[in-house]
Amino acid sequence: MESSRFYKKKTCMPDTVLYCSLHDPVAPCPSGYNTNKAVSLWGNSGRMEMTASKFMDIQRAIQPDWFQCLSDGDTISGEAGRKRAKKSVDRSLSFLDVCLQLLEKSPELQGSVMFGAIEGGDILEERLRSARETAKRPVGGFLLDGFQGCTMAKETKLKLIASVTAELPEDKPRIIHGVGKPDEVLECIERGVDIFESFFPFQVTERGCALVFSYDCHPDPEAAVLNQNGAQDLEKNGAEDNQDEISKADPEMTPFEIFLKDKRYHDDFGPVLEGCTCYCCQRHTRAYVHHLLVTNELLAGVLLMMHNFQHYFNFFSAIRDALRDNKLDQLKKCVFRQVLQGPANAKPGQ
Ligand SMILES: [Zn+2]
Repeated sequence: MESSRFYKKKTCMPDTVLYCSLHDPVAPCPSGYNTNKAVSLWGNSGRMEMTASKFMDIQRAIQPDWFQCLSDGDTISGEAGRKRAKKSVDRSLSFLDVCLQLLEKSPELQGSVMFGAIEGGDILEERLRSARETAKRPVGGFLLDGFQGCTMAKETKLKLIASVTAELPEDKPRIIHGVGKPDEVLECIERGVDIFESFFPFQVTERGCALVFSYDCHPDPEAAVLNQNGAQDLEKNGAEDNQDEISKADPEMTPFEIFLKDKRYHDDFGPVLEGCTCYCCQRHTRAYVHHLLVTNELLAGVLLMMHNFQHYFNFFSAIRDALRDNKLDQLKKCVFRQVLQGPANAKPGQ
């Protein structure tokens, strides 16, 4: 989990906050299984019904720093979803009231903060009702739920996020689930979101890719040279002759990453990203990671994860600096420029 505005609290694990969410952000969550009494969770052993009391028992055992309240985020898009959106808000408020009562009575959870979940699908009036009602309750922060996946149009999503955060008190953190791409993160920050999950670098790693985008908005000539290396690689994405290899890359691949399994990297003896200080870039080459990927070695994922996490967390550090120095616009320009140069818009043979 990464924070743009709030700094990390010390726990037994230094520099980390333990946050417990209801669902795994990278696992599919089938629709149609929630009731007024329970929310369905899905794992290796199939479906599990989570009632408010069972949910709070688990929180008592884990004692996280922060956790989201049990909520029903299972909505469908469009006008047909209006009734379902209302139900999701009603249920989530009712779960919130039960969980707040149980929280108050739990000595084990006096050091834990519960986030209220804002639901309501893509229906603005339900989102606003959810935000206003949740803000009346003694929650420690807010979760903007139900924005994961791509069923909602981007414009609708951003408008809803801005409308919801406008209803929330400034002094309590807002976390969003299911948003992790650098450009989308910046758009959400502009609309008042503070905290994000870190599933994105994991997904990048899973598809055999490395994050190489630049987030340097300072016109420091020396640093700019280092950063250009990654940018040049992004420009090369999809712009060379071996289109067959490119097409084997995951269609979910974003303009912020390079596909290291591509054969063009088999004799590339530079680091994954020039100038990066992570373990992988300091000790290994692109050619080595490429070899590990094509031979399905587990170490490939370990090394890529080290690099991708460090790069992503440094991106958030750059966001905090940009907010402090009033340079978020410059950072946004720098990141969005790379969206245009990426593989989605690169023409073959260019
Ligand atoms: Zn690295």
